[in-house]
Amino acid sequence: MPQTLNFPTPPPFIIIHGGAWDIPSPLLDLSVVGVEIAAREGLTILLNGGTALDAVEVSVQSMESDPVFDAGYGSALTRSGAVEMDAIICSGVSENFGAVACLTKCKSAVKVARKVMEDSEHTMFVGEGADDFGKLKCPEDVVGGEELISEYAREHWERFKDYKGPVNELFNKGEEQKHPGDTVGAVAVDKFGNFASATSTGGIPFCEGGRVGDSPLPGCGADADNEVGACSTTGHGESLSRVKASRRVMEKMENGATPGDAAEAVLERMLKVTGGRGGIIVAKANGGGVGFSFSTVKMPWAVGCEEWGDKIESGILPNGKK
Ligand code: ASP
Repeated sequence: MPQTLNFPTPPPFIIIHGGAWDIPSPLLDLSVVGVEIAAREGLTILLNGGTALDAVEVSVQSMESDPVFDAGYGSALTRSGAVEMDAIICSGVSENFGAVACLTKCKSAVKVARKVMEDSEHTMFVGEGADDFGKLKCPEDVVGGEELISEYAREHWERFKDYKGPVNELFNKGEEQKHPGDTVGAVAVDKFGNFASATSTGGIPFCEGGRVGDSPLPGCGADADNEVGACSTTGHGESLSRVKASRRVMEKMENGATPGDAAEAVLERMLKVTGGRGGIIVAKANGGGVGFSFSTVKMPWAVGCEEWGDKIESGILPNGKK
């Protein structure tokens, strides 16, 4: 049974996730601190009258630069030991999105994704095309690739590099949640009533080079529509893509579900249909508040809103505990 929570919070607000997996004890506090900092940075933008798009971008960038998470610096490594990042950013006003997949040469995949949305004719760039676009639009962020490999990601890869079995077995059975899958995401609504969402990831560890999960795919890794709300997902990417997780969450909300219950229903169905697990953060339009659900053991989350002032609610389990 997924673990679920709803906050009937009025906008503006922001909700953050830091990946759904069985986070080991040494990383618990760091994960909560990381999502709290991200929530606070995004909330500050919202409280100063900024847009939901700016808030989710800044929050996700904050976690991309934190090696605790599987995104940007600290990304999980592919079987060949490389970093390949995917990200998406979605605007609820325009129902536009920008995405990149298999980006290797820029430190913030979400920043490049936003440039794709706002500064290109297209919605997604992949591989070399993504790197070339990133170099052109974010020259200040260009890296060689090695700089994105954290000590933890390197050690983790060394420990498992001889594993020859299917990566999906690692991710969805027994060992699954011991493996980092701590993708990051943010969902926000601003004082103008505009929704936005963003997701950024280094993918699942040991995946084949060139593999693309759910994260950069609209309707899978994220979605946003001012009439319905917005969401961001994490977990086993092939499963989230198969069930079009984000789109289904939006449909459930259109049919009256609360944000947390919509996420829970989709995760339950995903487990039944694919055997995969994950987590989803959601905001609902027309005063429907914000919520989340996860079917893994843990998921770091944080919520901040204007009504609570400086206070950020956070945790690893729905009751705020670790
Ligand atoms: N969904 C991501 C992917 O499959 C992984 C994660 O959320 O941790 O690439």
